[in-house]
Amino acid sequence: MVKENLAEVKKEVEAAVAAAGRKKGSVALMAVSKLHTWENIMEAYEAGQRLFGENHVQEVEAKFPKTRPEGMEVHLIGHLQGNKVGKIVPLVDAIDSVDSLKLLRHIDHTAAMDGRVMPVLLEFNTSGEEAKSGFLTEEDLFAALDAAAGLQNVKIEGLMTVGPLGGDEEKNREAFSRLTRLRDECRKRYPLLCFDTLSMGMSDDFPTAIACGSTMVRIGTKIFGPRNYNL
Ligand SMILES: *Cc1c(COP(=O)(O)O)cnc(C)c1O
Repeated sequence: MVKENLAEVKKEVEAAVAAAGRKKGSVALMAVSKLHTWENIMEAYEAGQRLFGENHVQEVEAKFPKTRPEGMEVHLIGHLQGNKVGKIVPLVDAIDSVDSLKLLRHIDHTAAMDGRVMPVLLEFNTSGEEAKSGFLTEEDLFAALDAAAGLQNVKIEGLMTVGPLGGDEEKNREAFSRLTRLRDECRKRYPLLCFDTLSMGMSDDFPTAIACGSTMVRIGTKIFGPRNYNL
């Protein structure tokens, strides 16, 4: 089933890319495998999927073997607590949910001790919903980016957001366009930093996100089915 779902999602992503008049292949597909089994992940892998997203540090640690299949890439996309930074840094290829300057510094410090450079996305709360993580104000985001220039062991690669709850098309469009404008502003302010990745769009809202300029969609349910909360 995963294989068929994956093929269908890829088709829908490319259809949205074409409808937006954008270049074929300009949107990367992340398979969000939280609360799905290693068997399901491998089914996606065998079907050609390489990029995976997970929300919880413990789950990454428990589920993924130390030695991974060739080319498999795992990003953390869920809120990261400071006391779990040491654990997660050696386990993932990128952290796409950095939401404070303090966390950014902490990751930088840990990556330095690990002798590596961690690619990161800064998460922005485009809907202002309190339950969501992400930078809430542009001032806070810019303050983190001001500091990022001096950090040697994190590499800023772009911005990430989670669309508003509820799936209202107009609200989604507002939130996603806001992140795109913010990315444009970041490019102007920080010409030496990279903002190539705009990670936005999930199972229910990815066509809108692609229309608004997303370069990476994070799809869970449409690939793996409903999440297994007893996993
Ligand atoms: C769970 C999750 C997704 C995937 O959501 P679906 O609706 O299942 O596609 C994407 N991004 C984040 C940050 C998530 O937590």
